[in-house]
Amino acid sequence: MNQAADKVNLLDFDRQGLRDYFAQLGEKPYRAEQVMKWIYHRLENDFENMTDVGKSLREKLAAVCYVGPPKSMFDKAAIDGTHKWLLGMDGGNAIETVYIPEPTRGTLCVSSQVGCALNCQFCSTATQGFNRNLSTAEIIGQVWVAAKHLGNVPHQQRRITNVVMMGMGEPLLNFDNVVAAMSLMRDDLGFGLASKRVTLSTAGLVPMIDRLSTESDVSLAVSLHAANDELRTELVPLNKRYPLAELMAACDRYNERRPRTHITFEYTLMKGVNDQPEHARQLIKFMRRVHGRNKVNLIPFNPFPGTRFERSDPTVIRDFQTQLLNAGVLTMLRRTRGDDIDAACGQLKGQVLDRTRRQAEFRKKLEEGSVNAA
Ligand code: SAH
Repeated sequence: MNQAADKVNLLDFDRQGLRDYFAQLGEKPYRAEQVMKWIYHRLENDFENMTDVGKSLREKLAAVCYVGPPKSMFDKAAIDGTHKWLLGMDGGNAIETVYIPEPTRGTLCVSSQVGCALNCQFCSTATQGFNRNLSTAEIIGQVWVAAKHLGNVPHQQRRITNVVMMGMGEPLLNFDNVVAAMSLMRDDLGFGLASKRVTLSTAGLVPMIDRLSTESDVSLAVSLHAANDELRTELVPLNKRYPLAELMAACDRYNERRPRTHITFEYTLMKGVNDQPEHARQLIKFMRRVHGRNKVNLIPFNPFPGTRFERSDPTVIRDFQTQLLNAGVLTMLRRTRGDDIDAACGQLKGQVLDRTRRQAEFRKKLEEGSVNAA
């Protein structure tokens, strides 16, 4: 409804943006905040139902804007209660959002891009290629759709207590939209989550980690996966551009600016690749060098079709964790969730109309002379 291309999607605005937009419409800022509460507290997307907003303003809004969350094309629950949504974006693209319930909290894993351009070797999203960044509306809209689906209404127990930007995409390559969406996650008039309950995970974009430390107050997770440059470059090609020494320095700067928080280093364990005692020793050394009380999150590798990697054996995972713990490194083991519906870390693929690879293939074919430039 009401989604003509020339209308403005209110989910694209953070609080200040919405106030500015209402000012443009000749409306008082408190009206923007009233509407914000309807959108995020009551999960209402029809102006008609916003009963404490005057009829004339409701009509005015309906003429120029709309509240447009992404459409759920498909959703599925895993045996362990994990829930996955396939959300349709424009023109045949779709992304995935995952809800992971635990006894004391509920975590929503949110995507930031359609596909991903970083090409980490062990991640299913990478095999899909990259199409585009998600808009603020498409990012916060994932929380909106999940909250609505899970029956998150005021005065009821909150179902979504944490959000992690660990779905498809590299959030720091979509900086502005991700920061605006995270601001709505934390805003009292938005979803009202505490800063420490919103986590951004990055493969290690050094300049953007610096920018994040000054522009947004959220928890930071860094995908490490190897603590030596040669292996890390193989697994996370971005390491070539921003090697470990630079990454470590950026983490130190981040911790200096945000002394009350800590960084989580994610380490996906792959059989015979990065799970040996020498790798644990390298990781211990890294953790001792980087400043602050940081922690390691070990993730058993989740397989996907066509991958050359395998999950480490349970005893190897346990030994790796014990080695770190014995060295005084705070180390958690992430339990695999939702893998029966391909909803676990690194298994999200959505539907990506890949631009990068298709362009590359096209260029290759051109060079081979198997297609005409025209
Ligand atoms: N681009 C961001 C966020 C997305 S990935 C980043 O790299 O941090 C979220 C986490 O899942 C990362 O730590 C990622 O390395 C991990 N991951 C990716 N593929 C995985 C797989 N197949 N099994 C287990 N974890 C994986």
